Amino acid sequence: MTQRLVLVINCGSSSIKFALRREADGKPLMSGMAERLGSGRASLSWRAANTQQEITLADGEHATAMTALMPLIKQHADQPLSAVGHRVVHGGEHFTRAQQIDASVLDAIQANAALAPLHNPANLTGIHAAMRVFPDVAHVAVFDTAFHQSMPAHAYRYALPEALYQQYAIRRYGFHGTSHQYVTDQASKLTGRQPEEGAWLSAHLGNGCSTCAVLNGRSMDTSMGLTPLEGLVMGTRSGDVDPNLHAHLQRTLGWDLMRIEQLLNRESGLLGLSGLTNDMRQLEEAAAQGHAGAILAIEVFCYRLARSLFSMCAALPRLDGLLFTGGIGENSAKVRARTLAHMAAIGLKLDHNANDNAPKGVATAIHAQGSPMIWVIPTDEERQIAQESLALLEH
Ligand code: ADP
Repeated sequence: MTQRLVLVINCGSSSIKFALRREADGKPLMSGMAERLGSGRASLSWRAANTQQEITLADGEHATAMTALMPLIKQHADQPLSAVGHRVVHGGEHFTRAQQIDASVLDAIQANAALAPLHNPANLTGIHAAMRVFPDVAHVAVFDTAFHQSMPAHAYRYALPEALYQQYAIRRYGFHGTSHQYVTDQASKLTGRQPEEGAWLSAHLGNGCSTCAVLNGRSMDTSMGLTPLEGLVMGTRSGDVDPNLHAHLQRTLGWDLMRIEQLLNRESGLLGLSGLTNDMRQLEEAAAQGHAGAILAIEVFCYRLARSLFSMCAALPRLDGLLFTGGIGENSAKVRARTLAHMAAIGLKLDHNANDNAPKGVATAIHAQGSPMIWVIPTDEERQIAQESLALLEH
């Protein structure tokens, strides 16, 4: 069978990540990243087979990066592209699944920009640039929020007046949907269940972090909310704080909303707690040397993660297993162990030997006998985007 090709694009405000994926194939044919766009120091780097290259980009705009990308894609593609799959952060309530992009989808992504002011406009820039460069290929939007549209109202509503929801769409949406969907699908396959069958807790722990309760392939609850700030402690985001903190900071320090947003999104989390870095690997090294801030940051991160996972159990009728993914979830045996140390009350128990020796990049079971399952499952959001893009074209 011919393997169709998909170009996956994740366009942020200053970067474009891309990958050329063959259908049902594990590794990308090529992948890379345009970075520091708009800064005058923009570059484009990519790897394919055993080669790795980097060039500088003259004016460093998104469109320039896309134009530079086109000959590279053509060079590495052994057949025409079947689709371009775009990651789009906020689909609001409009989108419960991936969509082929047309004028109305573009309008709806634009309309959701108020809910994701940093992300959706950047995603749109990438879509417009890619549509100019690849005008004859189907472009598909895959939304971070879509997987969570199955949440029941009691999970997605805030206890705020109805009008704020009805008129202004203020509710919980959740993010990282492609990752939670991908790893829970993998878990069902790996454990011999029917596709999508299972009651899973998923912990996506990267720079952004979220938990999710997934029942038979449907998200029932997740820790992020209206924006990705809600929930867990993250690299630089605070996660949950007292909602009165804004008013308190305004009254006592005279801070305005922009200053407070900066604090909660960019200066808090692991970085704020440790006073050192947002990078978990570096924190673990510093903690091993006795750095008090690093030790505290890891402890708070793990305890709050355990608390969130407990609360997600309320969305499930039973627990088949807990899945760790993302850069921290996949690689940090210490974070997994410290988190599980707080979770004995629901019988989750690690096999410490399996946890400490879990191989990089391979799905691995790390639970002790008699415990609900615990797995480390490498996420692959690009693959999920490629699969959803192709699946859509078949309809
Ligand atoms: P993003 O959300 O940007 O995709 P990643 O999923 O790559 O981020 O996760 C980045 C995080 O993973 C960083 O905090 C990094 O330190 C952490 N990480 C990566 N490898 C390890 C490791 N071996 N041990 C501990 N933390 C790690």
